[in-house]
Amino acid sequence: MKLCFATNNPHKLDEARAILNNHCEIVSLHDIGCNQELAEDFDTLEKNSLQKAQFIHDHYQIDCFADDTGLEVEALNGAPGVYSARYSGLPPDSEKNVSLLLENLHDVKNRKARFRTVIALILEGNEYFFEGILSGTILKTRKGIQGFGYDPVFLPDGHDQTLAEMTASEKNAMSHRARALLKVVAFLGDQKSVKP
Ligand code: IMP
Repeated sequence: MKLCFATNNPHKLDEARAILNNHCEIVSLHDIGCNQELAEDFDTLEKNSLQKAQFIHDHYQIDCFADDTGLEVEALNGAPGVYSARYSGLPPDSEKNVSLLLENLHDVKNRKARFRTVIALILEGNEYFFEGILSGTILKTRKGIQGFGYDPVFLPDGHDQTLAEMTASEKNAMSHRARALLKVVAFLGDQKSVKP
Protein backbone atom coordinates (compact mmCIF):
# COMPACT_ATOMS: atom_id res chain seq x y z
CA MET A 1 0.00 0.00 0.00
CA LYS A 2 1.27 3.48 -0.94
CA LEU A 3 0.48 6.51 1.22
CA CYS A 4 1.58 10.08 0.55
CA PHE A 5 2.72 12.12 3.57
CA ALA A 6 1.96 15.70 2.47
CA THR A 7 5.37 17.11 3.38
CA ASN A 8 8.89 17.46 1.99
CA ASN A 9 10.42 17.80 5.47
CA PRO A 10 13.09 15.04 5.57
CA HIS A 11 12.92 14.70 9.39
CA LYS A 12 9.17 14.13 9.33
CA LEU A 13 9.51 11.66 6.45
CA ASP A 14 12.22 9.65 8.25
CA GLU A 15 10.12 9.57 11.41
CA ALA A 16 6.98 8.45 9.56
CA ARG A 17 8.84 5.83 7.52
CA ALA A 18 10.40 4.34 10.67
CA ILE A 19 7.00 4.08 12.36
CA LEU A 20 4.83 3.03 9.38
CA ASN A 21 7.51 0.80 7.89
CA ASN A 22 5.62 -2.51 8.05
CA HIS A 23 2.29 -1.07 6.96
CA CYS A 24 2.84 0.99 3.85
CA GLU A 25 5.28 2.74 1.56
CA ILE A 26 5.45 6.44 2.42
CA VAL A 27 5.96 8.81 -0.51
CA SER A 28 6.66 12.54 -0.17
CA LEU A 29 5.15 15.52 -2.03
CA HIS A 30 8.28 15.58 -4.15
CA ASP A 31 7.83 11.86 -5.01
CA ILE A 32 4.34 12.52 -6.42
CA GLY A 33 5.53 15.58 -8.38
CA CYS A 34 4.11 18.25 -6.08
CA ASN A 35 6.69 20.93 -5.40
CA GLN A 36 4.52 23.69 -4.02
CA GLU A 37 4.08 24.89 -0.46
CA LEU A 38 0.67 23.69 0.73
CA ALA A 39 -1.68 26.32 2.14
CA GLU A 40 -2.66 26.34 5.83
CA ASP A 41 -5.40 28.98 5.85
CA PHE A 42 -7.40 28.02 8.90
CA ASP A 43 -7.33 28.64 12.64
CA THR A 44 -7.28 25.06 13.92
CA LEU A 45 -4.80 22.20 13.54
CA GLU A 46 -7.65 19.93 12.41
CA LYS A 47 -8.76 22.24 9.58
CA ASN A 48 -5.19 22.93 8.38
CA SER A 49 -4.17 19.26 8.30
CA LEU A 50 -7.37 18.38 6.46
CA GLN A 51 -6.85 21.25 4.00
CA LYS A 52 -3.43 19.88 3.04
CA ALA A 53 -4.61 16.25 2.80
CA GLN A 54 -7.66 17.25 0.74
CA PHE A 55 -5.51 19.24 -1.67
CA ILE A 56 -3.32 16.21 -2.37
CA HIS A 57 -6.27 13.85 -2.62
CA ASP A 58 -8.13 16.17 -5.00
CA HIS A 59 -5.15 16.90 -7.28
CA TYR A 60 -3.26 13.59 -7.23
CA GLN A 61 -6.00 11.02 -6.41
CA ILE A 62 -3.80 9.20 -3.90
CA ASP A 63 -4.41 8.02 -0.33
CA CYS A 64 -2.59 10.53 1.86
CA PHE A 65 -2.15 12.17 5.23
CA ALA A 66 -1.00 15.58 6.45
CA ASP A 67 -0.02 16.90 9.87
CA ASP A 68 -0.16 20.17 11.71
CA THR A 69 1.40 20.87 15.10
CA GLY A 70 1.12 23.60 17.68
CA LEU A 71 2.69 24.43 21.03
CA GLU A 72 -0.14 25.15 23.48
CA VAL A 73 0.88 27.08 26.61
CA GLU A 74 -1.59 27.00 29.48
CA ALA A 75 -0.83 30.47 30.88
CA LEU A 76 -1.19 31.96 27.38
CA ASN A 77 -4.64 30.39 26.86
CA GLY A 78 -3.29 27.88 24.35
CA ALA A 79 -1.08 30.29 22.36
CA PRO A 80 0.91 30.14 20.17
CA GLY A 81 -1.09 27.04 19.12
CA VAL A 82 -1.91 26.89 15.44
CA TYR A 83 0.24 30.01 14.93
CA SER A 84 3.41 28.42 16.43
CA ALA A 85 5.49 28.69 13.25
CA ARG A 86 4.80 32.40 12.80
CA TYR A 87 4.36 33.47 16.45
CA SER A 88 6.78 36.39 16.05
CA GLY A 89 5.68 37.21 12.48
CA LEU A 90 6.64 36.27 8.96
CA PRO A 91 8.83 34.83 7.58
CA PRO A 92 8.87 32.09 10.26
CA ASP A 93 11.87 32.43 12.58
CA SER A 94 12.37 29.90 15.38
CA GLU A 95 14.90 32.02 17.29
CA LYS A 96 12.53 34.99 17.41
CA ASN A 97 9.58 32.73 18.30
CA VAL A 98 11.41 31.28 21.30
CA SER A 99 12.53 34.75 22.43
CA LEU A 100 8.96 36.06 22.22
CA LEU A 101 7.65 33.05 24.14
CA LEU A 102 10.21 33.56 26.93
CA GLU A 103 9.35 37.27 27.02
CA ASN A 104 5.62 36.57 27.26
CA LEU A 105 6.24 34.07 30.07
CA HIS A 106 8.58 36.39 31.98
CA ASP A 107 7.63 36.13 35.68
CA VAL A 108 4.80 33.69 34.88
CA LYS A 109 4.77 30.81 37.40
CA ASN A 110 2.56 28.35 35.48
CA ARG A 111 4.92 27.04 32.76
CA LYS A 112 2.76 24.08 31.69
CA ALA A 113 2.61 23.48 27.94
CA ARG A 114 2.03 20.74 25.42
CA PHE A 115 2.79 19.99 21.83
CA ARG A 116 -0.27 18.77 19.97
CA THR A 117 -0.11 17.16 16.53
CA VAL A 118 -3.16 16.43 14.43
CA ILE A 119 -2.93 14.08 11.47
CA ALA A 120 -5.69 14.07 8.85
CA LEU A 121 -5.76 10.86 6.81
CA ILE A 122 -7.75 10.37 3.62
CA LEU A 123 -8.10 6.69 2.82
CA GLU A 124 -10.30 5.49 -0.02
CA GLY A 125 -12.05 8.86 0.06
CA ASN A 126 -12.86 8.77 3.79
CA GLU A 127 -11.42 11.27 6.29
CA TYR A 128 -9.94 10.28 9.67
CA PHE A 129 -8.18 12.30 12.40
CA PHE A 130 -5.46 11.24 14.85
CA GLU A 131 -4.02 13.29 17.73
CA GLY A 132 -0.68 13.05 19.55
CA ILE A 133 0.15 15.05 22.68
CA LEU A 134 3.45 15.60 24.51
CA SER A 135 3.08 17.43 27.83
CA GLY A 136 5.84 19.36 29.56
CA THR A 137 6.99 22.75 30.85
CA ILE A 138 8.65 25.79 29.32
CA LEU A 139 12.05 26.59 30.85
CA LYS A 140 13.26 30.13 31.53
CA THR A 141 16.30 29.77 29.26
CA ARG A 142 17.34 27.64 26.28
CA LYS A 143 19.08 24.30 26.86
CA GLY A 144 20.51 22.12 24.07
CA ILE A 145 21.15 22.55 20.38
CA GLN A 146 19.46 19.54 18.73
CA GLY A 147 16.04 19.49 17.12
CA PHE A 148 14.21 22.59 15.94
CA GLY A 149 11.51 25.10 16.83
CA TYR A 150 10.71 25.33 20.54
CA ASP A 151 12.80 22.25 21.46
CA PRO A 152 15.47 24.17 23.50
CA VAL A 153 12.90 25.47 26.00
CA PHE A 154 10.57 22.43 26.16
CA LEU A 155 11.13 19.99 29.02
CA PRO A 156 8.90 16.92 28.61
CA ASP A 157 7.21 15.69 31.81
CA GLY A 158 9.22 12.96 33.55
CA HIS A 159 12.50 13.94 31.86
CA ASP A 160 15.48 16.06 32.91
CA GLN A 161 16.60 16.97 29.38
CA THR A 162 14.90 19.35 26.97
CA LEU A 163 13.95 18.02 23.53
CA ALA A 164 16.99 19.90 22.20
CA GLU A 165 19.32 17.93 24.50
CA MET A 166 18.01 14.57 23.26
CA THR A 167 19.15 12.59 20.24
CA ALA A 168 16.72 12.40 17.33
CA SER A 169 15.84 8.82 18.22
CA GLU A 170 15.21 9.68 21.90
CA LYS A 171 12.93 12.53 20.85
CA ASN A 172 11.15 10.50 18.16
CA ALA A 173 10.43 7.74 20.66
CA MET A 174 8.16 10.09 22.63
CA SER A 175 7.24 12.94 20.31
CA HIS A 176 3.72 14.26 19.74
CA ARG A 177 4.08 13.42 16.04
CA ALA A 178 5.21 9.85 16.84
CA ARG A 179 2.21 9.44 19.15
CA ALA A 180 -0.19 10.51 16.39
CA LEU A 181 1.63 8.28 13.85
CA LEU A 182 1.35 5.28 16.19
CA LYS A 183 -2.42 5.80 16.20
CA VAL A 184 -2.36 5.75 12.38
CA VAL A 185 -0.42 2.45 12.54
CA ALA A 186 -3.00 0.92 14.89
CA PHE A 187 -5.80 2.14 12.63
CA LEU A 188 -4.19 0.72 9.47
CA GLY A 189 -3.64 -2.58 11.29
CA ASP A 190 -7.34 -2.72 12.22
CA GLN A 191 -8.34 -1.87 8.64
CA LYS A 192 -6.25 -4.79 7.35
CA SER A 193 -7.77 -7.24 9.81
CA VAL A 194 -11.35 -6.43 8.78
CA LYS A 195 -10.63 -6.60 5.03
CA PRO A 196 -11.08 -10.02 3.35
P1 IMP B 1 4.43 21.94 11.81
O1 IMP B 1 2.95 21.90 11.71
O2 IMP B 1 5.03 20.58 12.05
O3 IMP B 1 5.09 22.66 10.68
O4 IMP B 1 4.77 22.76 13.13
C1 IMP B 1 4.43 24.13 13.28
C2 IMP B 1 5.42 24.79 14.22
O5 IMP B 1 5.32 24.19 15.53
C3 IMP B 1 6.88 24.61 13.82
O6 IMP B 1 7.28 25.62 12.94
C4 IMP B 1 7.59 24.74 15.17
O7 IMP B 1 7.72 26.09 15.53
C5 IMP B 1 6.61 24.08 16.12
N1 IMP B 1 6.93 22.66 16.28
C6 IMP B 1 6.29 21.60 15.69
N2 IMP B 1 6.85 20.44 16.08
C7 IMP B 1 7.86 20.78 16.92
C8 IMP B 1 8.81 20.00 17.64
O8 IMP B 1 8.86 18.76 17.59
N3 IMP B 1 9.67 20.70 18.41
C9 IMP B 1 9.67 22.05 18.51
N4 IMP B 1 8.82 22.81 17.83
C10 IMP B 1 7.91 22.18 17.05
